[in-house]
Order: sequence, then C-alpha cells, then structure tokens
Amino acid sequence: MTQQNISLTGKEILAQQWYLTRLCFGRAPGYMALHLFESVKLQISIFFEFTWCINFVLEAAENHAPWRDILLCMGILLAAIAVSTASFAFYMQKALPKLKPMLYHAFRMEIYTRTKDLDLSCYDDTDFYQKFILSTQEADACIDRYLDALNLYSGQGVRFVLLLIYCLTINPAALLIPLFLFPLDYMLVKKGNALSVKARMERVSHEQKREYQNRLFYLSDYAKDLRLYPSMQQKCRQDFGGSNQEIRRINRAYGKPLALCYFAHDALLGRLLREAVTWSLLLYQVLVLHSLSYAHMITISNSIGSLTNQGMEMMLCWKNVMENSAYVAQIRRLLSVEPAIVSHNGLPVPGAPACLETERLNFSYQPGHPVLSDINLKIQPAQKIALVGYNGSGKTTLVKLLMRLYDPTSGKVCLNGTDIREFDVRQYRFSIGSVFQDFKIYAATLKENVRMDICHDTPEETYEIESALYNAHFSLQDHRLIYQIETPMTTEFEKDGVNLSGGEAQKVAIARTLYRKQNMIIMDEPSSALDPLSEYLLNQELNEIARDKTVIFISHRLSTTRDADCIYMMEQGRIIESGTHEELLKLDGKYARMWNVQASLYRE
Ligand code: ADP
Repeated sequence: MTQQNISLTGKEILAQQWYLTRLCFGRAPGYMALHLFESVKLQISIFFEFTWCINFVLEAAENHAPWRDILLCMGILLAAIAVSTASFAFYMQKALPKLKPMLYHAFRMEIYTRTKDLDLSCYDDTDFYQKFILSTQEADACIDRYLDALNLYSGQGVRFVLLLIYCLTINPAALLIPLFLFPLDYMLVKKGNALSVKARMERVSHEQKREYQNRLFYLSDYAKDLRLYPSMQQKCRQDFGGSNQEIRRINRAYGKPLALCYFAHDALLGRLLREAVTWSLLLYQVLVLHSLSYAHMITISNSIGSLTNQGMEMMLCWKNVMENSAYVAQIRRLLSVEPAIVSHNGLPVPGAPACLETERLNFSYQPGHPVLSDINLKIQPAQKIALVGYNGSGKTTLVKLLMRLYDPTSGKVCLNGTDIREFDVRQYRFSIGSVFQDFKIYAATLKENVRMDICHDTPEETYEIESALYNAHFSLQDHRLIYQIETPMTTEFEKDGVNLSGGEAQKVAIARTLYRKQNMIIMDEPSSALDPLSEYLLNQELNEIARDKTVIFISHRLSTTRDADCIYMMEQGRIIESGTHEELLKLDGKYARMWNVQASLYRE
C-alpha cells in the first residue's frame, strides 16, 4: 500500500481498530482477555523488577538496612517472577498458538462469506481485483499487527505511566531531559523510516518481477516449456539476475544515508547526548545539591532511558496502527460492495423445460466497448442450439448472460416470457448445467468433483455419480484410481492422488452436468480436449441423454454442430446468420465458407 493510501482521519483509524477489537474479542474473548492480562502483567513485573526492586535493594544497602529485609524482598520478587514466568510460558505455548489461527480464521471467513457472492464483473476490474488480492494477502498480517499494537499500548502503556509517576514523585526535573530531546529523537527516527519506506517502494516492482521469475523455476506449469525452449530458460535466468541486480543497487543507494541516520540516532543522540545530559544532571543533584540518593540516581537514569524508548515505540507504533487501519478500511470497503446481480422478485424457476429468449440484448465489459449487440434468440424447450463463429465473436459472453453471470447493458433475457432478473438468482443458475472451456478440477475426490458438493455417500448418490462418469465416457477401470471415485484428484499433497489429462478432466466436467440432470445444458467447447473417437461417442451419448433437454452448444468443429435444430453464426458480437445446417449452406454465406474450409481440411 502506498503512502498516499494511508490517509485516514483519527476517527476512521479508531473505527477500524474498534472493528478489529470486536472481531477478536467476539471470536475468542477468553484468549483475548489472557493476551491483554499477560501484556500488562509482563510490563508491570518489569517495572517492579528493574525499577522498584533495584531501588529498594540499593536504598537498603545505602542505609545499612538488615540483610534479612533485603533477602525477604528478593525472595518475594523471585517467587513472583517464577509464577509470572510460568503463566507467561503457558500463554506462549498453549494460548497464543490457538488464539492466532482462531482470529485468522474468523477474519478470513468474514472476507470469504462476503466476497463469495461478488459479481464476476468485479474480477474484470483490474483496480478492484488488485486491491482484493492485496487485502486477502494482508488479512493475517492485519490480525498480527492489531495484536502487537494491543500488546504495546496496553502493556508498555501501563509501564510508561508507572515510570512517569515514579519519576514525577522522585525527581520531576529529570523528565525535562527526554522532553527536550524527544523532538530530535523523533525527527531522526522518522527520517530513517521515511528512507526505508522509499527504498521499499523502489524495490517493490523489482521484487514482484523476481517473485514471478522465481515461480517460473519451480512451478510445474512451466517445467515442460522451459525444457523445450532452453533459450527462454536462459532469458528467464538473465531477467532474474537483472532483478536481483536492481534490488542490490537500490539497497546500496540507500545503505549509506540509512546507516548515517541510525548512527546519529542510536550512537550520537541515544548513547552520547542523552546519557551525558542525564548523568550530568543526576550527579549534580547527588554530589552538589545532595537532593538525590545514589539508589534513585541509578533507577531514575534507567527510567529516563525506558521512558524515552517506550514513548518512541508508542509513537512509531501509531504509524503501524495507521497503516493497519488503512488495510482494514480497504478490506471493509471491499466487503461493503453489494452484488449488482440480485434477484428482483425471487420468483421460483419453472421446473419443466422452458422457452429461453433474448430481446435486443447488448452488453459490454467496459463502457464504450460493445461485445454483444442486438442479440435476438428464441430457444424452444428441448431444442438443440449451436453457437458458432470465430474466436472473440462473443459466444462465451452470450452464454454467460444466458446463465446470469452478467446482466445485460440493455435488453433482456426471458424464461417463459419472464425476465430472468425476476427469478431467484442462485436457483436460476443452478437450473442450468454448464461446461465451460476453463472448467477447473478441484483438489478433492473424484466423486466430489462430479457432485461439486460434500458427498453423503448414500448408495443412490454413489450410483448417480458413477453413472454420470460412465455416460461421460470416463473410465473407472483406470489402475491409478486406487480408491475409485474416492481417489483424490491432485498429486500436490495426496500421494495416492491422480493428475488427470486434459481429455479426462473434460469428461469429469461433463459428468458434473450429467449428474445434475437439469432441463437445460450449456456446453462451451465441451469436447475440445477429446480425441475424435471420444468426441464422437460423447456426442452420441449426449444426443441420447439430452433428448428432452434444451442444449446450447458452442463448438469450432462444425461436424459436431451440424445436427442442431438451429445454428447461430456470430461475428463481432452480432448474429449474422441463423438456420439449420442445410439452410445455412444454401444461404452460401460465412457459415457455408467456414464449413467448406473445415470439410476440405478433413478431406485432405
Ligand atoms: P468467444 O467465446 O466467441 O471466443 P468471448 O465471448 O470469449 O468470445 O469474447 C468476446 C470479446 O469479449 C473478446 O473481444 C474478448 O476479448 C472480450 N472479453 C471476454 N471476456 C472479457 C472480460 N472478462 N473482460 C473484458 N473483455 C472480455
């Protein structure tokens, strides 16, 4: 996140922190109370151990108090430290490892529950999508930063106040030292931080490139290509070296000013100036004015150092709180985006096959760039429809609109004469079986990949899943399927898992549609990864299974679409020809030309 993004008002910052407080204390009140208690207890015990007790022992020695009193004080202190350390160890070993994952989970669930219904158009908006990725990546860090800040402001805050009271009661004059040096101290730290942030910003793009180049070397997706094209491998290695070189150059450029800044802060100001001024004042009070004991001289000197450091830490931590609030505000802004694709009236979807119609449908992903123009279709129940045309002509976009993954820019899609926006959107989408080109196989079992849900393992369900796979010509006789439909569909973290080939995966995607038995099926290039025999068998099967269903089919292979009841030829977002195969051939237009080209290729 860039500096200019971190510009929340104090009220907004507090609002984000309050949100995190409610989230964390609401999810794990007991653990959070323990977190708070341990932070405060630790700092109070540090105050007593290093200030009050040292003062007590030194004063006792200075005043020749009986050894018994000193030993008693030390004994009580040691016992208190033992109890405190034991409870702190319990907190660190038992509570903290549970607390953090609970909070990470709570925050991520909040994000996932709200964003799962986001419109697909949000993913097309580069700015929104980048912020979305950044926010989800930052979710765990937001919790970490909140816990750190809570720890600091509660624990160290209490110690700061105790030290302040201690100094005020014993030697208020000494407080003038940190008060006067603080602005200089703060200025130097701020300068150092500003330089680090500037260096980080300059490095960011090179680090992103390096991360990408790094991925090329370990991701299996690129392994084959990089072996087949060694010169590409060399180029990637060169780019990787280039990014590293840039990062080193930036580090070198900022190294000297950063070192100077830290030297001025830590050595000159922190060690020399502050110590010199403090000790001069304290020695003057002890030796000349006799207004201070030796014991107080030592504890006040320590307290001044601690006060300065803690004041500084709290100031610097505010910057982290601001940054954290900016991330949280960003995440909450994303969470507040309401989906535009909602059910207007929540009508139930007709159970029987229905007539699907589009009226003067226009659509663009980005304003001013129409992708579909004036689309008018009428698809009768149980009709077989083919959408054909060259790449980019708008076929996939059209079926996405028919499935209500997007809403039209103007015009409408109607089911049995009712605008599909009137139906319950989830139920409507679920009423259409679909296979898209970019289907995904999940790291789940084969049966879950078909059912696309948690399985209940009833005999009927198992039978239905196996039948769907059988009808999609997916062979369960494969020796790799050790657990049959229970076999995991990944080898990434399942040693008995299986990585399916493109064609096999496509059959699983088809089985998904066959399993759900909807009245309407939309298939976008469903057989592109199948061999010709499998494609032929699948088409036969589909003709049989989908006899009573409406089927909308996109394919580049016109041999698979020729039997459709109606073929729509698309070009540049418009339907330019429609009719049966024979009618279109007779028309002798673009479809006929496309058909003749493909037919001649097959003949050759
Ligand atoms: P087809 O299925 O006929 O190949 P598409 O419907 O996929 O065509 O694409 C039609 C046009 O819309 C193309 O110019 C494509 O680049 C554009 N397009 C597709 N998806 C998106 C998207 N998510 N955002 C912006 N433009 C898109």
